Amino acid sequence: MPTTRPENRTGDRLLFTPGPLTTSPTVREAMRVDIGSWDRDCIDLVADIRSRLLQLAGGRDDLTCIPIPGSGTTGVEAMLGTAVPRDGKLLVLINGAYGRRMALMADRMGMAHRCHVDPENQPHDPAELARLLEEDRSISHVAVVHCETTSGLLNPLREIGLAVARSGRRFLVDAISSFGAYAVGAGQPIDFDAGPIDYLVVSANKAIEGVPGCAFVLARIEAIRRCEGNSRSFSLDLYDQWQHMHESGLFRYTPPTHVLLAFRQALVEMQEEGGIESRAARYRENHRLLNEGMRRLGFREYIRPEHQSHVITAYHHPHKDFDFRRFYDRLHAKGYIIYPGKVTEVDTFRIANIGHVGPDEVRGLLAAIEEVVAEGI
Ligand SMILES: *Cc1c(COP(=O)(O)O)cnc(C)c1O
Repeated sequence: MPTTRPENRTGDRLLFTPGPLTTSPTVREAMRVDIGSWDRDCIDLVADIRSRLLQLAGGRDDLTCIPIPGSGTTGVEAMLGTAVPRDGKLLVLINGAYGRRMALMADRMGMAHRCHVDPENQPHDPAELARLLEEDRSISHVAVVHCETTSGLLNPLREIGLAVARSGRRFLVDAISSFGAYAVGAGQPIDFDAGPIDYLVVSANKAIEGVPGCAFVLARIEAIRRCEGNSRSFSLDLYDQWQHMHESGLFRYTPPTHVLLAFRQALVEMQEEGGIESRAARYRENHRLLNEGMRRLGFREYIRPEHQSHVITAYHHPHKDFDFRRFYDRLHAKGYIIYPGKVTEVDTFRIANIGHVGPDEVRGLLAAIEEVVAEGI
């Protein structure tokens, strides 16, 4: 865990954003070598990453890990396009921009789908989902976002998974902002038994604290095995990638070698920190400090505490003439990057507390915000 603030060279700022986020100097350092894509170095690197990710998912041998180069969105699109067969129908649960994005993807792919929309500050209700699945027997797959980064809201993934499992449908999860930040295992927030979660998307540049450029789909082998020929896309065919990787240990096309080098280092550092539990504890503490400080400065969070994640928080604009751009620029000048709002119903801005940051960095950010507030916002 970092205890001192990294040097603030020009352009070297602390990111309080949901990815890219602040990485450790050693993660950045790991990218300073070149490796060949067909080389043993790369094959071993990929195998190590896949096995470490599966370890974080509980060391289950019924799962496989399929890397797909690109940002998190690429991984989600590959998952949807490969998992849902041509005669399938996807139910998308929406209470924020990332849920909406999955519906846009389904639409663009010409996939039969239905949306269930809840307010952006309200988690999905598993009982309501159970009724919906009972009523519409044509739904074959259900997709949900675990932590809606739009607002910081945490959906009850485990209970939603249980409802999906009871109805015998397949369960697809965008856990991009939560995997690595919440415990995985039986009875835990990310529970591969309760679901069962059939597919779950992870991205390199969120709570595992790597750099952007690769997504990973953790898939149930029994599920991905049935997906041959489903994909609406050539390059985003997860089944094909899985087969290829299974046979050769290689990506089908140019792998993001430097991103993978950084990601392995990030996974090693995660293990050194004590695994997901320790990381979750650091984020919880970061979030507690941040929110306490923000409240003291007069800011109010958008999501009720019982549904609020310890990943990212959306704060209301303090008054109707609040100029976010100016606020942002003044924090930027002090070396801190925060995030604009994305909630549609009200004006918010967001602060994430994931990444290679600890209590000192959070206190530093709060001190900077206090100075900006004192200057008048
Ligand atoms: C970051 C994120 C994504 C992916 O976003 P990219 O910009 O494509 O990396 C998807 N879903 C959630 C919940 C996220 O937080």
